Amino acid sequence: MTLTVVGSIAFDAVETPSGSRDRLLGGSAVHFALASSQLADTRIVGPVGDDFGAEEYAILHARGVITDDVEHVPGGKTFFWAGRYHRDINQRDTLQTDLNVFEDFEPKLSPDSSGADVLFLGNIQPELQRDVREQCDRARFVAMDSMNLWIDIAHEALLQTISLVDCLVLNDSELKQLTDEPNLIRAAHKALDLGPRVVIAKQGEYGSAMITADGFFGLSAYPTSDIVEPTGAGDTFAGGLMGYLAAHADEIDDAALRRAMAYGTACASFNVEGFGSERLYELDRAEIDARVAMLEASSRF
Ligand code: AMP
Repeated sequence: MTLTVVGSIAFDAVETPSGSRDRLLGGSAVHFALASSQLADTRIVGPVGDDFGAEEYAILHARGVITDDVEHVPGGKTFFWAGRYHRDINQRDTLQTDLNVFEDFEPKLSPDSSGADVLFLGNIQPELQRDVREQCDRARFVAMDSMNLWIDIAHEALLQTISLVDCLVLNDSELKQLTDEPNLIRAAHKALDLGPRVVIAKQGEYGSAMITADGFFGLSAYPTSDIVEPTGAGDTFAGGLMGYLAAHADEIDDAALRRAMAYGTACASFNVEGFGSERLYELDRAEIDARVAMLEASSRF
């Protein structure tokens, strides 16, 4: 099964109480692909500027990420995001978001990318997500992420994109914000009414929950105490989830989605153990499988 992701390709600057980095490879599509490529061939779609070079491509290629649809914009600057974490690492403030090359981006997918079976619309302007969704008309499973910024400033466009996907993956608080509903189950059912058949709420260190019209599944986060910096954990979760579905699921049913959530959870646990996605650069598949086995054992009763 082929897997395509569109989303931001970025440089991030992050501050935590115990250290900072001013230039990390980041972006929703990058975090996603560094995880999903562990499980399935992943094609990444998005623009970069002149500041994105051999060093960044080398990180992606070392993991087998296919970058043919990364568009280099001459004279442009790569998307930039800066954030600061509180002592409670679940709390962060966005300090800066520069869309840069994303402002004028018009995705033109190659036949290989638009022919994907499984498509993930990573966090980026909802209009761009919709454009890519419409180009991938043969995809048999499409999921998407978003964030509070787009809920605030592009609400109608976001609702339209949500109506075109099978699965909405959103932070718990953003799901409640989107639907103006403080209860998770009610919020998820309101989101299901918008079109998707699956809603997955990411709940940070508490794990994740999947809600369908007639089902519920909750999974704890992997119990790691080695938290360094969590940027991209949500995208990494989605990468593990979609990578598993692309690689292993002939039929994307409840059982496959539950197992996929375990792969997402395991991948995300590695993401938080280093700055950016650095911990994923050298990760091997056996380490992911071991954490999935532990999650399976610990959640059975
Ligand atoms: P997460 O920690 O899962 O929310 O993902 C953080 C990543 O998303 C960072 O690597 C940022 O570069 C990227 N990001 C932050 N804000 C945006 C935005 N408005 N649009 C697209 N990507 C973003």
